Amino acid sequence: MEHQHGQPAQGAGNAHTDPVCGMTVIEGKEAARSEHNGETYYFCGRGCKVAFDKTPEKFLKEGPSMRM
Ligand SMILES: [Zn+2]
Repeated sequence: MEHQHGQPAQGAGNAHTDPVCGMTVIEGKEAARSEHNGETYYFCGRGCKVAFDKTPEKFLKEGPSMRM
């Protein structure tokens, strides 16, 4: 069993959290992805990827910072 965080998987793939905005992104349906330190990150949109690529450490340390 995989551990869960209360976000239901949609059956299309693994659920990942967009490190920029905190949205749940389903693998295979992501708008963009990036690799950093050997990890793959998934994004809801290109804007999030661009922000992450500029300062990945910021988002990994501080967590999602764009709150709606
Ligand atoms: Zn996002």
